[in-house]
Order: sequence, then C-alpha cells, then structure tokens
Amino acid sequence: MLQKPKGTYDIYGEKGKQIEYIESLLKSLMSKYNYDYIETPIFESSELFHRGVGETTDIVTKETYDFKDRGDRMMTLRPEGTAGVVRSFVENKMYGYASMPVKTWYFGPMFRYERPQSGRYRQFKQFGLEVFGSDDPMVDAEVISIAVNFYKILGLKGIKVNINSLGDKESRDNYREALIKHFEPVIDTYCEDCRERFKKNPLRILDCKIDHDKEEMKNAPTTIEYLNEESKKHFEAVKEHLEALDIDYIVNPSVVRGLDYYTHTVFEVEADIPEFGSQNVLCGGGRYNGLVEAVGGPNMSGVGFALGLERLLNALEAEKITLPYDNSLDVYVIPMSENEKSYAFGLLQALRMSGFKADIDYMNRKISGNFKQADRYNAKFVIIVGEEEINTRTLTVKNNNTKEEYKVSEELLINFFDDNIEEEH
Ligand code: ATP
Ligand code: MG
Repeated sequence: MLQKPKGTYDIYGEKGKQIEYIESLLKSLMSKYNYDYIETPIFESSELFHRGVGETTDIVTKETYDFKDRGDRMMTLRPEGTAGVVRSFVENKMYGYASMPVKTWYFGPMFRYERPQSGRYRQFKQFGLEVFGSDDPMVDAEVISIAVNFYKILGLKGIKVNINSLGDKESRDNYREALIKHFEPVIDTYCEDCRERFKKNPLRILDCKIDHDKEEMKNAPTTIEYLNEESKKHFEAVKEHLEALDIDYIVNPSVVRGLDYYTHTVFEVEADIPEFGSQNVLCGGGRYNGLVEAVGGPNMSGVGFALGLERLLNALEAEKITLPYDNSLDVYVIPMSENEKSYAFGLLQALRMSGFKADIDYMNRKISGNFKQADRYNAKFVIIVGEEEINTRTLTVKNNNTKEEYKVSEELLINFFDDNIEEEH
C-alpha cells in the first residue's frame, strides 16, 4: 500500500474541522488588528533562504528540501515564512507605501528535513505575521500580545512568555566579543556544530541542543548586560507596553533565537503544561532590523513571529480543550420516494442559498435509514417531502430534538427556519 512520506500527516475528519475553526479565528483576529493577508510561493530560490534565514542556522545547514528544477535552478521548499514575505515586501516595493507600517499575516505549510517526533514534522503548518517599517516598541509589544491573545481566546492556560533583548548592532557586537572570550578556553570540548558556530556566529552556541547542560552555558554572559542606552530604552518601553496590555512575561536571558538578523526584542511562548513533552516551544519571534536590507531592500525594520499549528493542537489536547466549532446540520431533507427527489433537491438548494446548512440522502436509504443519517449529522430539523406535501405545497417539518411536528407552507419555509434556528448565517 502506498503511504504518506515520513514526517507528514493527513488532515481529515475532526482534525479538518479543528483546523478550519482555527483558520477562521485567525482571519477574524487579524482583521481586528488591521493586518493584511499575504501569500507567497511554497518554493523559492535557494539563495533567498541562505540570505534570509542565515548560513549558520540549523534550518539552512541541515533541514532544507532542495531540488533543481528542469531549468537547472536551485530551489528550496520554504522552511519558514519570513524570508518569502520579506522578499515579496522588497520585490513589490511595499516599502514605498504611504500607509506605513505594512502589517501582514500568513498561514501555510513549511518544510524541514527533521527527525520526526511528536510536535516535529517534515511538513507542518505555521501561522505568522510580519510588520515592516516601524521602530516603535509598541509594535514589538503588539506582536507578542497577538500570539498570547490568540492562545488565550482558544482557552489555553499553561503558557509562559519568555522575552529577551539582543540590542542594536553595537550592543550585539559587544556581546559577541564577550561570548568569544567566554567560550574560547573551552570550545574544543564542545560539539562539532558549536565549534563551527564559534567561528561564524557564537550567539548560536547558546541555542545548542547537545551541549546545553555544560557549565559555561549556564554562566555565559547575558545579552542584557551588554545593551547600550538606546537598546535599554527600547526594551524598557516594550516591557511597559506589555504591562499595559496585561501580558505576563518573564525576562529570560537564555532566549537568543538563531536567526542572524534579530535585533532588540526576541521572544518565545512555551507550553507550561505537565507532561507536554520536549517540543514545548509553541511560538517564536522578534525584531529583525537588518533583514529587509539583507534581502536587497532599504534599511527598514521588521518585527514578527511564527507559531506552529501542530504543537498548538497538542497543547489544546493536553489541556482537554475542545474547540467550539459547529458540528450540526440545520436541516436534513427526506423525500419519501423517488418521485419527490427532484422537488426535495430544489428545496435543498433554496435552503442552502438562504444560508442554512442542509443536506439530503445520496445513498438510496429507506426512510428509517434517512432518520438515522439525520441523527448522525446532528440535524436540528428534518423536512419530509411526500406526495401530499407536494400537492398541497405544505411541508412536514420535524424538530429532530423535541420530535415536534409542524406543517409549514412552501413560501413560509425559509421564514420558519429564520425564526427557529439561532445561528449566524
Ligand atoms: P525548535 O527549536 O523546536 O526546532 P525552531 O526554533 O526551529 O523550533 P521556529 O523556526 O522559530 O522554530 O518556528 C516557530 C514555530 O514553528 C515553533 O515554535 C514550532 O511551534 C513550529 N515548528 C518549528 N519546526 C517545526 C516542525 N518541524 N514541526 C512542527 N512544528 C514546528
Ligand atoms: Mg528547529
């Protein structure tokens, strides 16, 4: 039997409904925050990710799906969303818009060649957003608050927000020097990756999943100690704005995030749920003031985050949260025989066009089988269409819960359901 590729999964049934619900929630949330939807290609030139994610990151060195297309171009399935959005921002000259900042959001599949495990897949879905063109610390706080509020709306309780600041370029450079001094005497005892990171981007050593328990990791200098005045001021303002929004956070110096272009604020939201497992980082992001320029645009700042859908679903499951999506049908139409099918089918279309969720039998079930099917669909009402109903243009309508029966004339049928079904249509 043919099977799905390793590290992937199918979405169907209840999971499909969960994802539909989450997507619609995201849409309405993003419109309230006044963000625009953006969609970029699922594959881009490999060069974009080398520049946009960074040569020294795990994502680019170990995790990309690369292929040569039939025209001999090196292509990569996107491992994350930011690089493509930044490319689009630059290519479409959005930096020239009068209505700055440009606020965008995306939702779609990402691809990384990783060791599959719970919360870690080779194709997974991310929701993310990017804001371009503002240095205001309020934007940093807004972006963090969107992630947190999204989790809160869904009802998640066990979340922990870790924030940190890397500072501006000057602060980062000073910190880099300090890190080199700190790790130099012991770097030979570290893993091969760390020795490479030491040469290219020592900050990434702190993100190492192999050596993270070593002594020098724990007492490494922190970025906060190396912030210059300007950067301190920015970070203080971010914290103040978060407090204004009632967002609880922890300043955690170990959050450094790998991307080469991060400046100032970085943050991660962690699932703080017992027995959740080790893939507990639900979301990560921050400010990247050098990225737009690195991808060929003007010197313009950006702030964003990305959150993983699968870990979110795991967290919801761990907290036993069921999403409040509608799992019922408004009306199920039952023709008594072959003769009434066409009339019933017309009625069904009229109901659907008036905004009701409605269905009919396509399996030639007997009447009793039809009622069972109505129950499986959690139908609120059933319409029975027999010879007499058609002759008198009066339908038999049954409330499927109370079993009460009504005779409703054809022209008043839609009104009847408008009055009796409390739903948004
Ligand atoms: P990790 O340290 O767990 O590998 P990361 O730093 O690579 O995470 P990001 O690139 O910041 O993750 O992606 C943001 C979010 O996307 C993560 O917090 C996580 O929820 C999700 N994510 C990342 N990689 C995967 C994956 N392979 N499968 C499922 N979700 C993922
Ligand atoms: Mg990763």
